[in-house]
Amino acid sequence: MISDDDIRRVREATDLVELVQETVVLKQSGREFWGRCPFHDEKTPSFKVDPRSQLYHCFGCNAGGDSFGFVMRSQNMEFLDAVRYLASRANIELVESQGTVKQGQRARLLQLMDVSANFYSALLLRSHERGAEAARAYLSRRNMGLETARHWQLGYAPGNRQLLEHLQSQGFSAQECLDANVAAVARQWQQPEQSQDRLQDRFFERVMFPVADLQGQTIAFGGRVMTNKEPKYLNSSETLLFRKRETLYGLDKAKATISAQGVAIVVEGYTDTIAMHAAGFTNTVATLGTALTLAHLKLLNRFAKKVIYLFDGDEAGKRAAVRAAELITPDITPEAGRFRVLLEVAELPTGMDPADFLAQQGPAAMQETLDESTPLLRYAIRQSLRTADLSSPEGRNAALRAALFVLLPVRGSVLANTYIADELAPQLGADYAQALALFNSLPKPREIGRSGQAQAGSVGAQAAAAAAGRAADAQARVVSPGSMPTQQPDADAGRASMADLQNDLLVLYIEYPEVRKLLAQAFASIPWSGEWLPLLARTLLASDIAAESEELYAALLDAAPAYAPVLAAGQKQDFSGSPKDYADLLLYMLRLEQIQNEIALAKIAYGKESAGARKDALFEEIANKQAQLAEIREKMAEVPKTLL
Ligand code: ZN
Repeated sequence: MISDDDIRRVREATDLVELVQETVVLKQSGREFWGRCPFHDEKTPSFKVDPRSQLYHCFGCNAGGDSFGFVMRSQNMEFLDAVRYLASRANIELVESQGTVKQGQRARLLQLMDVSANFYSALLLRSHERGAEAARAYLSRRNMGLETARHWQLGYAPGNRQLLEHLQSQGFSAQECLDANVAAVARQWQQPEQSQDRLQDRFFERVMFPVADLQGQTIAFGGRVMTNKEPKYLNSSETLLFRKRETLYGLDKAKATISAQGVAIVVEGYTDTIAMHAAGFTNTVATLGTALTLAHLKLLNRFAKKVIYLFDGDEAGKRAAVRAAELITPDITPEAGRFRVLLEVAELPTGMDPADFLAQQGPAAMQETLDESTPLLRYAIRQSLRTADLSSPEGRNAALRAALFVLLPVRGSVLANTYIADELAPQLGADYAQALALFNSLPKPREIGRSGQAQAGSVGAQAAAAAAGRAADAQARVVSPGSMPTQQPDADAGRASMADLQNDLLVLYIEYPEVRKLLAQAFASIPWSGEWLPLLARTLLASDIAAESEELYAALLDAAPAYAPVLAAGQKQDFSGSPKDYADLLLYMLRLEQIQNEIALAKIAYGKESAGARKDALFEEIANKQAQLAEIREKMAEVPKTLL
């Protein structure tokens, strides 16, 4: 049990804006913060965090609540676990009546890692020890100067129990050093009677790369030798803080760019990540000595819609890319809605890692390589056909089977069938129907790790729940036909600005699917001024709301060539942050109208009612709605005047 007092302490120690910012890019607007909702798929921010009330609300999917609610929902935790999580985050030790306090341990280990990272970093930057000089020379040969070292908090590990002694002088116990995996038991001293002296530093004579969690707290280290000693890289083992299959190096620094661009680049090493960031590709992260996992993809999916896996074009790199294709499950195909991740691969010339490539050919060549990325499934299919003997029917049949195995994880999806129809059948001279029949007769794909599959399942369930929420929300927003205000709330608005608003509304409609339903209603009741606008409006309303935007563009251009420049601007999303304001304005206008109608109805009912409890209730209802009305007017006053 956790006492109410502790819960209150945790609540007070947590700032919701900071908490949300760990995973969502927020922008301040007035007194509030806005961002793209983490609980539903959207391009324009409708997720609001209010620092005063410490509450969040999404105008898109209606999610809302406080810090505890946010953690429960975003991390799928029970209430008490959310309290424990936030307590550990705020370094608050909970007094749980059952005794053992894991959170305290977590906080201690985080502290220990922080002290260690600072220790290593200070040595690299300032020590005159020969090893530290060598580390600086090693880094500068790889174009990593002091500024880079500071930015990534790189360090030097001397060994010789120097870290251990420093940590113990700061009050950390030997057990804590072992638990954080910065110390190891020395082999020659494994007799228990020598327990005082049995520990040594785990990392020695290595350049140190701290690995951070999403909040930028050090949770592990990677250490690289400066000689030809093996292993070249030594990573922390898994600890209470660190799970390598769920951690990506550099994500704490890359997440903002990934979020802004919607694209993440995955490489394989620390130095590659750093070189990519230095060359301007600040959306780059690295796996930590493991292949890309489903957990990695899920993590990236919180920020990215597209993941480009950049690898060395040697045989090992090719194999790793093909293995990654197994991660493409139906849950992340383009049909999976908000959880889809486009997984693409970009191949560097054989024998070159990203750092070499950048050093030799520069960022522009890197950009070209990235631009030429191929969908991973297509790449894997081509790899499977690379060594096939296509000269005989037997060879072609074997090749077909091999390629179909690549598609097995997505069997039953439109995506798989499209690959069979467009790539496999034509290339192998096979009949589509027969290829499909063979595909469906293949044995089930081997499981890609049970836990991975289970997670993917729950992601699907979440998607369904979110979709249901969206539908309900969309319904709630529907107002009766004709109730859409046909006038701007600001009586001074001129005709020219009204036309501008209409144009922008159209661009919004095209670019932001989540507000389409709402906007379609707006279009139906706005008095269209231009000659072609009614035609355009009809075309829009007749379009399938779920249709892809390319189709809409085509239809629009057909209907109104004059609109091409606006569409082009829309395509570039060239409205410098104003879409949210337009969407807000629309929402407020709709809500205003709705409440005014409700008040009018309540007043009529009030007039008919004779004195009594019912009449009192109506009076209260009217007063409440009038308060809401005032609140909305206040919010509308915050919408930038340039919109009106
Ligand atoms: Zn939402």
